[in-house]
Amino acid sequence: MIYFDNSSTTSVHPEVRRVYGQLLETTYGNPDSMHTLGRKASTLLETSRKNIAQMLHVKPEEIIFTGCASESNSLAIIGYALANAHRGKHILLGAVEHASVEHAGQWLQQFGYEVDYLPINDAGIITPQVVQEAMREDTILVSIMHVNNEIGAINPIEAIEKIVHAHPTCSFHVDCVQSFSKLPIPFEKLDMATISAHKIHGLKGSALLMKKKKVQLMPLIQGGQQEQGLRGGTENAPANIVLSKTIRLALEHQKEKYDHVKKINTYIRQELMKIPGTTINSPEDGLPYILNISFAEMTSEVLMNALDQKGICVSAKSTCSSHSQSASKVLLMMHKSEKEATHMIRLSFDENNTMEEAKTFIEACKEIIKNYGLHL
Ligand code: PLP
Repeated sequence: MIYFDNSSTTSVHPEVRRVYGQLLETTYGNPDSMHTLGRKASTLLETSRKNIAQMLHVKPEEIIFTGCASESNSLAIIGYALANAHRGKHILLGAVEHASVEHAGQWLQQFGYEVDYLPINDAGIITPQVVQEAMREDTILVSIMHVNNEIGAINPIEAIEKIVHAHPTCSFHVDCVQSFSKLPIPFEKLDMATISAHKIHGLKGSALLMKKKKVQLMPLIQGGQQEQGLRGGTENAPANIVLSKTIRLALEHQKEKYDHVKKINTYIRQELMKIPGTTINSPEDGLPYILNISFAEMTSEVLMNALDQKGICVSAKSTCSSHSQSASKVLLMMHKSEKEATHMIRLSFDENNTMEEAKTFIEACKEIIKNYGLHL
C-alpha cells in the first residue's frame, strides 16, 4: 500500500500509540475528581498543556483542548463573533477555507453578521492587498488558513497579520492544520490558531485552539468549567496528555522531513510533466507536502479508483468535500479550466513516504493512462 493521502489524515506514531495505550490503562480518572486518580490525570493534563504552550511560545492558559480542528475553527469564529458583537458584526473569511470555517460564516450570516469572503489569486493565495481593501471600521475578525488543504498554497500570514492588527479591535485567527510542524508559525503574533492531532501522526478526536488571554469567546458547548468554561464535558485526559508528545515528535527533525518530502514532490512533478495532458495545479512555491495534479483525459474519480486498485491512496479535492462531484472551487478561483477542476487529484506526502513509492506512482500513472487507450 502506498499512502499519499496524509493531508486527510496520518498514521498514528508508534510512540503515541504506546503512550496512549498506557494512559488508557492507568489514567482513566476524571481530571475534575478530587481523589488520587483524578488528581493524577489533572496533573498530567496540565503538564501537557504547559509543554505544548512552551513549544508554541505561548502561555499554558492560552491552550484550549478540543475534539477536532473543525471544533476549534467553529469556536474561534462563532464563539468569537458571539462574544464580540458589541464591537462590530463584520467578519472576513478566506473564500476557500475548510468547510468548518465556511459553514461557521454561513451560520453567523443568519443572525445578522456580515461575512465577506476573501478571494485567492491565480497562485492560490489571499494577498495582503485584498485583506487591506476588505477591512472596515466594524471588522472584528479575520480568519484564513495558513496552507490551503487542496493545493498547498501558502498564505502570507505575517503580512496579513500586520494589516489586521493595524485595526485595534480586530482579531486574527489562522487555521494551521496543514502547516503545523511543516512551516514556522508566528504564534506569538496570532490571536487564535487551530491545530489538529490526526494530521501530525496523532489521535483522531484530538485538537487544540490557541487563544490569547485577551481574546473573549462564548462557549459553544455548555456544561462544566472545563477548559476555562469554554468546553463543557469531561476532559479526554489520555488524548490531551498524549498531544504534547505528538507535537514534540512532529516538531523533531523538521528540516530533514521537509527536505525529504520536497525531493519526492520535485521528482513526481518532473516525471508528470513528461506525460502529455498533465497539469500541475499546485504553485511552484507551495508547501511540498501537497501536490495537486490533473490529467486531461481522466476525471478525478476514474483516476482515483484506478490508483486505488493498484494500492495507491490519493484524494480528489479535500477529503471533506470528496463526496461532491462538482469542480474544485479552489481551482476555478485560480482560473484553471473546468476540465482541470473536475480532473484533479491531490497527493499529500509525509516523511514516511519513499522515493521508491514515488517511482511506483509514476509507473502506475503511465500504465493507467495506457490502459485507457491514451497516448503517452
Ligand atoms: N482545517 C483544514 C485546513 C483541514 O485540512 C482540515 C481537515 O482536513 C480541518 C480544518 C478539519 O480537521 P479535523 O478533521 O480535525 O476537524
